[in-house]
Amino acid sequence: MADVIDELQAWLDENWDSDLLVAEWWERLGLAGWSAPSLPENAYGRGLSRNDAVRVAETIGEHGALPAPGGLGLLLAAPTIATHGTQEQIDRYVRQIVIGQEAWCQLFSEPVAGSDLAGLQSRAVQDGDEWIVNGQKVWTSGGHYADLGMLIARTNSEAPKHQGISYFAIDMHQPGMDIRPLKEMTGRALFNEVFMTDARTTTDAMIGDQNNGWAVANTTLAFERAGLGSGGGSAATSAALPGTVAGHLAQRAGDFVKNRRPGGGGGGGGFRGAGKMLRELAKSTGAIDDPTVRQDLMRLHTLQEIGRMQTLRLKALKVKGQDIPGFGNIGKLAMSDMMRLQRDLGLRIIGAAGMLHAYDSAGKAKLDEATGQPFNAIVTELALFAQGPPIYGGTDQVQRNIIGERVLGLPKEPGFDRAMPFSELPKNA
Ligand SMILES: Cc1cc2nc3c(=O)[nH]c(=O)nc-3n(C[C@H](O)[C@H](O)[C@H](O)COP(=O)(O)OP(=O)(O)OC[C@H]3O[C@@H](n4cnc5c(N)ncnc54)[C@H](O)[C@@H]3O)c2cc1C
Repeated sequence: MADVIDELQAWLDENWDSDLLVAEWWERLGLAGWSAPSLPENAYGRGLSRNDAVRVAETIGEHGALPAPGGLGLLLAAPTIATHGTQEQIDRYVRQIVIGQEAWCQLFSEPVAGSDLAGLQSRAVQDGDEWIVNGQKVWTSGGHYADLGMLIARTNSEAPKHQGISYFAIDMHQPGMDIRPLKEMTGRALFNEVFMTDARTTTDAMIGDQNNGWAVANTTLAFERAGLGSGGGSAATSAALPGTVAGHLAQRAGDFVKNRRPGGGGGGGGFRGAGKMLRELAKSTGAIDDPTVRQDLMRLHTLQEIGRMQTLRLKALKVKGQDIPGFGNIGKLAMSDMMRLQRDLGLRIIGAAGMLHAYDSAGKAKLDEATGQPFNAIVTELALFAQGPPIYGGTDQVQRNIIGERVLGLPKEPGFDRAMPFSELPKNA
Protein backbone atom coordinates (compact mmCIF):
# COMPACT_ATOMS: atom_id res chain seq x y z
CA MET A 1 0.00 0.00 0.00
CA ALA A 2 2.87 2.38 0.84
CA ASP A 3 3.97 2.14 -2.83
CA VAL A 4 0.53 3.10 -4.03
CA ILE A 5 0.34 6.11 -1.70
CA ASP A 6 3.86 7.20 -2.77
CA GLU A 7 2.78 6.93 -6.40
CA LEU A 8 -0.40 8.92 -5.66
CA GLN A 9 1.48 11.64 -3.79
CA ALA A 10 3.93 12.06 -6.68
CA TRP A 11 1.00 12.11 -9.11
CA LEU A 12 -0.82 14.75 -7.04
CA ASP A 13 2.31 16.93 -6.85
CA GLU A 14 2.46 16.86 -10.62
CA ASN A 15 -1.24 17.08 -11.48
CA TRP A 16 -3.28 18.94 -8.84
CA ASP A 17 -3.81 22.57 -9.76
CA SER A 18 -6.53 24.52 -7.98
CA ASP A 19 -7.02 26.66 -11.11
CA LEU A 20 -8.20 23.73 -13.20
CA LEU A 21 -11.91 23.50 -13.87
CA VAL A 22 -13.69 20.77 -11.92
CA ALA A 23 -14.26 18.87 -15.20
CA GLU A 24 -10.57 19.09 -16.15
CA TRP A 25 -9.39 17.93 -12.70
CA TRP A 26 -11.84 15.03 -12.53
CA GLU A 27 -10.82 13.91 -16.01
CA ARG A 28 -7.17 13.71 -14.89
CA LEU A 29 -8.07 11.98 -11.62
CA GLY A 30 -10.54 9.52 -13.16
CA LEU A 31 -8.46 8.47 -16.16
CA ALA A 32 -5.42 7.91 -13.90
CA GLY A 33 -7.50 5.39 -11.91
CA TRP A 34 -7.66 7.43 -8.69
CA SER A 35 -11.40 8.30 -8.66
CA ALA A 36 -12.58 4.75 -8.03
CA PRO A 37 -9.42 2.77 -7.31
CA SER A 38 -11.37 -0.23 -5.97
CA LEU A 39 -12.80 -0.87 -9.45
CA PRO A 40 -10.90 -3.33 -11.65
CA GLU A 41 -8.36 -1.99 -14.13
CA ASN A 42 -10.64 -2.61 -17.13
CA ALA A 43 -13.21 -0.35 -15.42
CA TYR A 44 -11.00 2.71 -14.81
CA GLY A 45 -9.84 1.53 -11.38
CA ARG A 46 -6.75 -0.09 -9.88
CA GLY A 47 -8.21 -3.21 -8.26
CA LEU A 48 -7.48 -1.95 -4.72
CA SER A 49 -9.34 -3.20 -1.62
CA ARG A 50 -12.06 -0.98 -0.13
CA ASN A 51 -9.75 -0.05 2.78
CA ASP A 52 -6.94 0.92 0.47
CA ALA A 53 -9.37 2.93 -1.65
CA VAL A 54 -10.42 4.82 1.50
CA ARG A 55 -6.73 5.55 2.16
CA VAL A 56 -6.42 6.88 -1.41
CA ALA A 57 -9.41 9.19 -0.86
CA GLU A 58 -7.89 10.40 2.44
CA THR A 59 -4.57 11.10 0.76
CA ILE A 60 -6.27 13.20 -1.93
CA GLY A 61 -8.03 15.18 0.83
CA GLU A 62 -4.85 15.60 2.90
CA HIS A 63 -3.09 16.95 -0.20
CA GLY A 64 -5.73 19.69 -0.37
CA ALA A 65 -7.01 18.51 -3.76
CA LEU A 66 -10.67 18.22 -4.75
CA PRO A 67 -11.94 14.70 -3.93
CA ALA A 68 -13.26 12.34 -6.60
CA PRO A 69 -16.77 12.93 -7.92
CA GLY A 70 -19.17 11.43 -5.39
CA GLY A 71 -22.78 10.41 -5.62
CA LEU A 72 -24.62 7.27 -6.56
CA GLY A 73 -22.80 6.91 -9.86
CA LEU A 74 -19.46 6.22 -8.21
CA LEU A 75 -20.94 4.44 -5.17
CA LEU A 76 -23.43 2.16 -6.96
CA ALA A 77 -23.69 2.34 -10.76
CA ALA A 78 -19.96 2.06 -11.53
CA PRO A 79 -19.26 -1.08 -9.46
CA THR A 80 -22.52 -2.69 -10.65
CA ILE A 81 -21.72 -2.06 -14.32
CA ALA A 82 -18.11 -3.17 -13.75
CA THR A 83 -19.52 -6.46 -12.35
CA HIS A 84 -22.34 -7.20 -14.83
CA GLY A 85 -21.81 -4.91 -17.82
CA THR A 86 -20.06 -5.56 -21.12
CA GLN A 87 -16.77 -3.77 -21.88
CA GLU A 88 -18.73 -1.46 -24.21
CA GLN A 89 -21.06 -0.55 -21.34
CA ILE A 90 -18.10 0.00 -19.01
CA ASP A 91 -16.54 2.35 -21.56
CA ARG A 92 -19.84 4.13 -22.17
CA TYR A 93 -20.97 4.58 -18.55
CA VAL A 94 -18.17 3.98 -16.01
CA ARG A 95 -15.75 6.28 -17.81
CA GLN A 96 -18.24 9.16 -17.61
CA ILE A 97 -18.83 8.43 -13.90
CA VAL A 98 -15.19 8.41 -12.83
CA ILE A 99 -14.56 11.71 -14.62
CA GLY A 100 -17.72 13.21 -13.09
CA GLN A 101 -19.40 14.04 -16.41
CA GLU A 102 -22.63 12.16 -15.65
CA ALA A 103 -24.56 11.93 -12.37
CA TRP A 104 -26.79 8.96 -11.57
CA CYS A 105 -29.82 8.18 -9.44
CA GLN A 106 -31.28 4.88 -8.28
CA LEU A 107 -34.75 4.14 -9.66
CA PHE A 108 -35.55 1.14 -7.44
CA SER A 109 -38.23 1.92 -4.77
CA GLU A 110 -41.87 2.33 -5.70
CA PRO A 111 -44.91 3.33 -3.64
CA VAL A 112 -45.76 -0.36 -3.05
CA ALA A 113 -42.27 -1.84 -3.40
CA GLY A 114 -39.67 -0.81 -0.82
CA SER A 115 -38.58 -3.63 1.49
CA ASP A 116 -40.39 -5.98 -0.89
CA LEU A 117 -38.49 -4.53 -3.83
CA ALA A 118 -39.12 -7.54 -6.08
CA GLY A 119 -42.82 -6.63 -5.97
CA LEU A 120 -42.12 -3.62 -8.23
CA GLN A 121 -44.73 -2.79 -10.84
CA SER A 122 -42.98 -0.45 -13.30
CA ARG A 123 -42.90 -2.14 -16.67
CA ALA A 124 -40.56 -2.07 -19.65
CA VAL A 125 -42.06 -3.36 -22.91
CA GLN A 126 -39.80 -4.11 -25.88
CA ASP A 127 -40.22 -2.10 -29.08
CA GLY A 128 -37.51 -3.19 -31.53
CA ASP A 129 -34.15 -2.13 -30.08
CA GLU A 130 -35.92 0.07 -27.56
CA TRP A 131 -37.93 -0.46 -24.39
CA ILE A 132 -40.92 1.66 -23.39
CA VAL A 133 -41.10 2.26 -19.65
CA ASN A 134 -44.19 3.14 -17.61
CA GLY A 135 -44.54 3.34 -13.84
CA GLN A 136 -43.71 5.35 -10.74
CA LYS A 137 -40.60 5.43 -8.59
CA VAL A 138 -40.24 7.18 -5.25
CA TRP A 139 -37.54 8.30 -2.76
CA THR A 140 -35.22 8.83 -5.76
CA SER A 141 -32.25 10.59 -4.15
CA GLY A 142 -30.61 13.13 -6.42
CA GLY A 143 -33.10 12.45 -9.24
CA HIS A 144 -33.36 16.19 -9.87
CA TYR A 145 -29.70 16.50 -10.87
CA ALA A 146 -29.15 13.05 -12.37
CA ASP A 147 -28.29 12.49 -16.01
CA LEU A 148 -28.94 8.76 -15.88
CA GLY A 149 -30.90 6.37 -13.69
CA MET A 150 -30.31 2.77 -12.59
CA LEU A 151 -33.74 1.46 -13.44
CA ILE A 152 -35.23 -1.88 -12.47
CA ALA A 153 -38.47 -2.67 -14.28
CA ARG A 154 -40.63 -5.71 -14.92
CA THR A 155 -40.00 -7.26 -18.32
CA ASN A 156 -41.95 -10.50 -17.79
CA SER A 157 -45.09 -10.52 -15.65
CA GLU A 158 -45.73 -14.22 -16.24
CA ALA A 159 -42.54 -15.26 -14.42
CA PRO A 160 -42.30 -15.40 -10.60
CA LYS A 161 -41.61 -11.93 -9.24
CA HIS A 162 -37.83 -12.23 -8.81
CA GLN A 163 -37.38 -13.70 -12.29
CA GLY A 164 -39.12 -11.16 -14.53
CA ILE A 165 -37.10 -8.02 -13.76
CA SER A 166 -34.45 -6.36 -15.96
CA TYR A 167 -31.91 -3.67 -15.09
CA PHE A 168 -31.36 -0.69 -17.41
CA ALA A 169 -29.52 2.58 -17.61
CA ILE A 170 -32.08 5.21 -18.55
CA ASP A 171 -31.74 8.83 -19.67
CA MET A 172 -33.30 11.16 -17.10
CA HIS A 173 -33.46 14.08 -19.57
CA GLN A 174 -36.36 12.92 -21.72
CA PRO A 175 -39.97 14.03 -21.95
CA GLY A 176 -41.28 10.77 -20.44
CA MET A 177 -39.51 11.48 -17.13
CA ASP A 178 -41.40 13.72 -14.71
CA ILE A 179 -39.22 14.35 -11.63
CA ARG A 180 -40.95 15.96 -8.65
CA PRO A 181 -38.91 16.86 -5.53
CA LEU A 182 -40.19 15.78 -2.09
CA LYS A 183 -39.33 18.13 0.76
CA GLU A 184 -38.11 16.48 3.97
CA MET A 185 -38.21 17.71 7.54
CA THR A 186 -34.56 18.77 7.20
CA GLY A 187 -35.92 21.51 4.92
CA ARG A 188 -34.14 20.06 1.89
CA ALA A 189 -35.44 18.01 -1.00
CA LEU A 190 -32.92 15.20 -1.15
CA PHE A 191 -35.25 12.84 -2.92
CA ASN A 192 -37.99 12.87 -5.54
CA GLU A 193 -40.88 10.96 -6.97
CA VAL A 194 -40.37 10.05 -10.60
CA PHE A 195 -43.26 9.38 -12.97
CA MET A 196 -42.25 7.48 -16.11
CA THR A 197 -44.73 7.77 -18.99
CA ASP A 198 -43.66 6.09 -22.23
CA ALA A 199 -40.05 6.85 -21.30
CA ARG A 200 -37.52 5.09 -23.51
CA THR A 201 -34.35 3.14 -23.05
CA THR A 202 -32.51 0.69 -25.30
CA THR A 203 -31.40 -2.93 -25.33
CA ASP A 204 -27.79 -1.65 -25.39
CA ALA A 205 -28.49 -0.07 -22.00
CA MET A 206 -29.64 -3.32 -20.37
CA ILE A 207 -27.10 -4.28 -17.69
CA GLY A 208 -26.86 -8.07 -17.39
CA ASP A 209 -29.27 -10.46 -19.11
CA GLN A 210 -32.94 -9.86 -19.81
CA ASN A 211 -35.06 -10.93 -16.80
CA ASN A 212 -31.92 -11.36 -14.68
CA GLY A 213 -32.14 -7.85 -13.22
CA TRP A 214 -32.78 -9.07 -9.69
CA ALA A 215 -29.24 -10.46 -9.45
CA VAL A 216 -27.86 -7.18 -10.85
CA ALA A 217 -29.98 -5.14 -8.40
CA ASN A 218 -28.64 -7.24 -5.53
CA THR A 219 -25.13 -6.30 -6.56
CA THR A 220 -26.12 -2.63 -6.38
CA LEU A 221 -27.72 -3.18 -2.96
CA ALA A 222 -24.62 -4.98 -1.66
CA PHE A 223 -22.42 -2.05 -2.74
CA GLU A 224 -24.93 0.33 -1.15
CA ARG A 225 -24.82 -1.46 2.21
CA ALA A 226 -21.06 -1.77 2.18
CA GLY A 227 -20.66 1.91 1.23
CA LEU A 228 -23.14 3.15 3.81
CA GLY A 229 -21.72 0.92 6.53
CA SER A 230 -18.32 2.44 5.96
CA GLY A 231 -19.66 5.99 6.12
CA GLY A 232 -20.94 6.69 2.66
CA GLY A 233 -17.70 6.02 0.79
CA SER A 234 -16.49 8.97 -1.17
CA ALA A 235 -20.09 9.96 -1.93
CA ALA A 236 -20.17 12.17 1.12
CA THR A 237 -16.86 13.92 0.76
CA SER A 238 -16.85 15.99 -2.43
CA ALA A 239 -18.37 19.45 -2.22
CA ALA A 240 -18.62 19.61 -6.03
CA LEU A 241 -21.43 17.65 -7.63
CA PRO A 242 -20.92 15.55 -10.75
CA GLY A 243 -23.12 15.71 -13.84
CA THR A 244 -24.43 18.25 -16.28
CA VAL A 245 -27.27 19.66 -14.16
CA ALA A 246 -25.54 20.87 -10.98
CA GLY A 247 -23.34 23.24 -13.00
CA HIS A 248 -20.16 22.58 -11.01
CA LEU A 249 -18.09 21.10 -13.84
CA ALA A 250 -17.32 24.49 -15.39
CA GLN A 251 -16.26 26.06 -12.06
CA ARG A 252 -12.77 26.35 -10.58
CA ALA A 253 -11.78 23.18 -8.69
CA GLY A 254 -9.96 25.10 -5.94
CA ASP A 255 -13.14 26.96 -4.98
CA PHE A 256 -14.77 23.74 -3.85
CA VAL A 257 -11.79 22.75 -1.72
CA LYS A 258 -11.98 26.05 0.16
CA ASN A 259 -15.68 25.51 0.80
CA ARG A 260 -15.34 22.00 2.16
CA ARG A 261 -16.54 21.48 5.70
CA PRO A 262 -14.55 19.15 7.94
CA GLY A 263 -16.16 15.70 8.30
CA GLY A 264 -18.14 15.98 5.07
CA GLY A 265 -21.10 18.12 4.19
CA GLY A 266 -24.58 18.01 5.60
CA GLY A 267 -26.89 15.03 5.71
CA GLY A 268 -25.40 11.61 6.13
CA GLY A 269 -21.83 12.66 5.43
CA GLY A 270 -21.37 14.61 8.62
CA PHE A 271 -21.64 11.71 11.02
CA ARG A 272 -18.08 10.45 10.73
CA GLY A 273 -16.61 13.37 12.65
CA ALA A 274 -19.61 13.67 14.95
CA GLY A 275 -18.04 11.84 17.92
CA LYS A 276 -15.27 14.42 18.22
CA MET A 277 -17.70 17.29 17.68
CA LEU A 278 -20.04 15.99 20.40
CA ARG A 279 -17.15 15.62 22.87
CA GLU A 280 -16.06 19.22 22.28
CA LEU A 281 -19.65 20.40 22.53
CA ALA A 282 -20.21 18.56 25.83
CA LYS A 283 -17.06 20.19 27.22
CA SER A 284 -18.15 23.66 26.13
CA THR A 285 -21.70 23.37 27.57
CA GLY A 286 -20.60 21.64 30.79
CA ALA A 287 -22.71 18.55 29.90
CA ILE A 288 -19.47 16.57 30.16
CA ASP A 289 -19.95 16.66 33.96
CA ASP A 290 -23.01 14.42 33.56
CA PRO A 291 -21.76 10.82 33.95
CA THR A 292 -24.51 9.47 31.65
CA VAL A 293 -23.34 11.82 28.89
CA ARG A 294 -19.76 10.62 29.37
CA GLN A 295 -20.99 7.03 29.28
CA ASP A 296 -22.79 7.59 25.95
CA LEU A 297 -19.80 9.42 24.46
CA MET A 298 -17.77 6.35 25.37
CA ARG A 299 -20.40 4.05 23.85
CA LEU A 300 -20.18 6.02 20.62
CA HIS A 301 -16.40 5.83 20.61
CA THR A 302 -16.59 2.08 21.31
CA LEU A 303 -18.98 1.49 18.40
CA GLN A 304 -16.68 3.44 16.09
CA GLU A 305 -13.66 1.45 17.26
CA ILE A 306 -15.48 -1.86 16.79
CA GLY A 307 -16.32 -0.79 13.23
CA ARG A 308 -12.70 0.13 12.54
CA MET A 309 -11.39 -3.15 13.94
CA GLN A 310 -13.99 -5.21 12.04
CA THR A 311 -12.78 -3.55 8.84
CA LEU A 312 -9.17 -4.46 9.69
CA ARG A 313 -10.29 -8.03 10.48
CA LEU A 314 -12.04 -8.26 7.12
CA LYS A 315 -8.96 -6.96 5.35
CA ALA A 316 -6.76 -9.61 7.01
CA LEU A 317 -9.25 -12.37 6.16
CA LYS A 318 -9.54 -11.24 2.53
CA VAL A 319 -5.78 -11.64 2.11
CA LYS A 320 -6.29 -15.31 3.05
CA GLY A 321 -9.23 -15.60 0.63
CA GLN A 322 -11.78 -15.61 3.47
CA ASP A 323 -14.72 -13.36 4.28
CA ILE A 324 -17.03 -12.24 7.10
CA PRO A 325 -20.52 -13.29 5.97
CA GLY A 326 -23.04 -10.48 6.44
CA PHE A 327 -20.30 -7.88 6.94
CA GLY A 328 -22.14 -5.21 4.92
CA ASN A 329 -25.44 -5.84 6.74
CA ILE A 330 -23.77 -5.71 10.15
CA GLY A 331 -21.90 -2.53 9.17
CA LYS A 332 -25.12 -0.85 8.08
CA LEU A 333 -26.93 -1.85 11.30
CA ALA A 334 -24.02 -0.47 13.34
CA MET A 335 -24.15 2.78 11.34
CA SER A 336 -27.88 3.12 12.12
CA ASP A 337 -27.17 2.58 15.84
CA MET A 338 -24.49 5.27 15.77
CA MET A 339 -26.80 7.72 14.01
CA ARG A 340 -29.49 7.25 16.68
CA LEU A 341 -26.97 7.55 19.49
CA GLN A 342 -25.52 10.75 18.00
CA ARG A 343 -29.03 12.17 17.59
CA ASP A 344 -30.04 11.46 21.20
CA LEU A 345 -26.71 12.46 22.69
CA GLY A 346 -26.48 15.70 20.70
CA LEU A 347 -29.98 16.77 21.70
CA ARG A 348 -29.26 15.97 25.37
CA ILE A 349 -26.08 18.05 25.26
CA ILE A 350 -27.65 21.15 23.75
CA GLY A 351 -30.89 20.80 25.75
CA ALA A 352 -33.71 23.21 24.98
CA ALA A 353 -31.67 24.87 22.19
CA GLY A 354 -32.34 21.68 20.21
CA MET A 355 -35.84 22.99 19.57
CA LEU A 356 -34.31 25.68 17.32
CA HIS A 357 -33.20 24.75 13.82
CA ALA A 358 -31.85 26.71 10.85
CA TYR A 359 -32.90 25.72 7.35
CA ASP A 360 -30.52 27.98 5.41
CA SER A 361 -27.32 29.96 5.90
CA ALA A 362 -29.13 33.20 6.84
CA GLY A 363 -31.11 31.29 9.48
CA LYS A 364 -27.93 29.61 10.69
CA ALA A 365 -26.22 32.97 11.23
CA LYS A 366 -29.18 34.10 13.38
CA LEU A 367 -29.20 30.82 15.28
CA ASP A 368 -25.45 31.03 15.95
CA GLU A 369 -25.97 34.55 17.30
CA ALA A 370 -28.94 33.56 19.49
CA THR A 371 -27.32 30.45 20.99
CA GLY A 372 -23.66 31.49 20.83
CA GLN A 373 -23.11 27.90 19.72
CA PRO A 374 -21.97 27.22 16.13
CA PHE A 375 -22.46 23.46 16.54
CA ASN A 376 -26.16 23.85 17.37
CA ALA A 377 -27.34 23.68 13.75
CA ILE A 378 -25.11 20.66 13.07
CA VAL A 379 -26.68 18.78 16.00
CA THR A 380 -30.25 19.52 14.89
CA GLU A 381 -29.35 18.71 11.28
CA LEU A 382 -27.96 15.35 12.41
CA ALA A 383 -31.03 14.72 14.57
CA LEU A 384 -33.45 15.46 11.73
CA PHE A 385 -31.51 13.37 9.24
CA ALA A 386 -30.94 10.43 11.63
CA GLN A 387 -34.25 8.82 10.65
CA GLY A 388 -33.09 8.31 7.04
CA PRO A 389 -30.07 5.95 7.24
CA PRO A 390 -31.90 3.19 9.18
CA ILE A 391 -34.39 3.11 6.25
CA TYR A 392 -32.46 3.61 3.01
CA GLY A 393 -30.38 0.83 1.54
CA GLY A 394 -32.74 -1.63 3.31
CA THR A 395 -34.29 -1.01 6.73
CA ASP A 396 -32.83 -2.35 9.98
CA GLN A 397 -35.49 -5.08 10.05
CA VAL A 398 -34.62 -6.13 6.51
CA GLN A 399 -30.88 -6.26 7.36
CA ARG A 400 -31.72 -8.55 10.29
CA ASN A 401 -33.85 -10.76 8.03
CA ILE A 402 -30.95 -11.07 5.58
CA ILE A 403 -28.48 -11.95 8.36
CA GLY A 404 -30.96 -14.49 9.74
CA GLU A 405 -31.72 -16.16 6.43
CA ARG A 406 -28.51 -15.86 4.40
CA VAL A 407 -25.84 -15.89 7.14
CA LEU A 408 -27.31 -17.88 10.02
CA GLY A 409 -29.31 -20.22 7.76
CA LEU A 410 -32.61 -19.67 9.57
CA PRO A 411 -35.78 -20.64 7.68
CA LYS A 412 -37.18 -18.04 5.27
CA GLU A 413 -40.29 -16.12 6.15
CA PRO A 414 -43.31 -18.17 5.08
CA GLY A 415 -44.73 -16.93 1.76
CA PHE A 416 -46.43 -18.12 -1.38
CA ASP A 417 -45.03 -15.53 -3.76
CA ARG A 418 -41.69 -16.95 -4.86
CA ALA A 419 -42.96 -19.48 -7.41
CA MET A 420 -46.25 -17.97 -8.56
CA PRO A 421 -46.32 -15.82 -11.75
CA PHE A 422 -46.18 -12.13 -10.82
CA SER A 423 -49.39 -11.47 -12.77
CA GLU A 424 -51.32 -13.81 -10.41
CA LEU A 425 -50.07 -12.30 -7.14
CA PRO A 426 -52.49 -10.17 -5.11
CA LYS A 427 -51.45 -6.50 -5.28
CA ASN A 428 -52.23 -3.23 -3.63
CA ALA A 429 -53.95 -0.76 -5.93
C1 LIG B 1 -33.31 9.29 2.86
C2 LIG B 1 -33.76 8.20 1.94
C3 LIG B 1 -33.21 8.10 0.68
C4 LIG B 1 -33.64 7.09 -0.20
N1 LIG B 1 -33.10 7.03 -1.46
C5 LIG B 1 -33.55 6.11 -2.34
C6 LIG B 1 -33.08 6.10 -3.69
O1 LIG B 1 -32.25 6.91 -4.09
N2 LIG B 1 -33.58 5.19 -4.54
C7 LIG B 1 -34.50 4.26 -4.15
O2 LIG B 1 -34.88 3.44 -4.99
N3 LIG B 1 -34.98 4.24 -2.88
C8 LIG B 1 -34.53 5.15 -1.97
N4 LIG B 1 -35.01 5.16 -0.68
C9 LIG B 1 -36.08 4.24 -0.35
C10 LIG B 1 -35.70 3.11 0.61
O3 LIG B 1 -34.90 2.16 -0.01
C11 LIG B 1 -37.01 2.51 1.13
O4 LIG B 1 -37.64 3.52 1.89
C12 LIG B 1 -36.77 1.29 1.97
O5 LIG B 1 -36.37 0.22 1.19
C13 LIG B 1 -38.03 0.89 2.77
O6 LIG B 1 -39.12 0.77 1.92
P1 LIG B 1 -40.51 1.49 2.26
O7 LIG B 1 -40.23 2.92 2.52
O8 LIG B 1 -41.46 1.16 1.14
O9 LIG B 1 -41.01 0.84 3.62
P2 LIG B 1 -41.77 -0.54 3.78
O10 LIG B 1 -41.08 -1.59 2.98
O11 LIG B 1 -43.22 -0.34 3.53
O12 LIG B 1 -41.50 -0.85 5.32
C14 LIG B 1 -42.28 -0.28 6.37
C15 LIG B 1 -41.83 -0.89 7.70
O13 LIG B 1 -42.08 -2.31 7.69
C16 LIG B 1 -40.88 -3.04 7.97
N5 LIG B 1 -40.85 -4.26 7.17
C17 LIG B 1 -41.16 -4.38 5.85
N6 LIG B 1 -40.99 -5.66 5.44
C18 LIG B 1 -40.56 -6.36 6.52
C19 LIG B 1 -40.19 -7.72 6.74
N7 LIG B 1 -40.26 -8.63 5.76
N8 LIG B 1 -39.78 -8.09 7.98
C20 LIG B 1 -39.71 -7.18 9.00
N9 LIG B 1 -40.05 -5.86 8.85
C21 LIG B 1 -40.46 -5.48 7.64
C22 LIG B 1 -39.75 -2.11 7.55
O14 LIG B 1 -38.54 -2.42 8.23
C23 LIG B 1 -40.31 -0.73 7.95
O15 LIG B 1 -40.09 -0.51 9.32
C24 LIG B 1 -34.61 6.15 0.21
C25 LIG B 1 -35.16 6.24 1.50
C26 LIG B 1 -34.74 7.26 2.37
C27 LIG B 1 -35.35 7.32 3.73
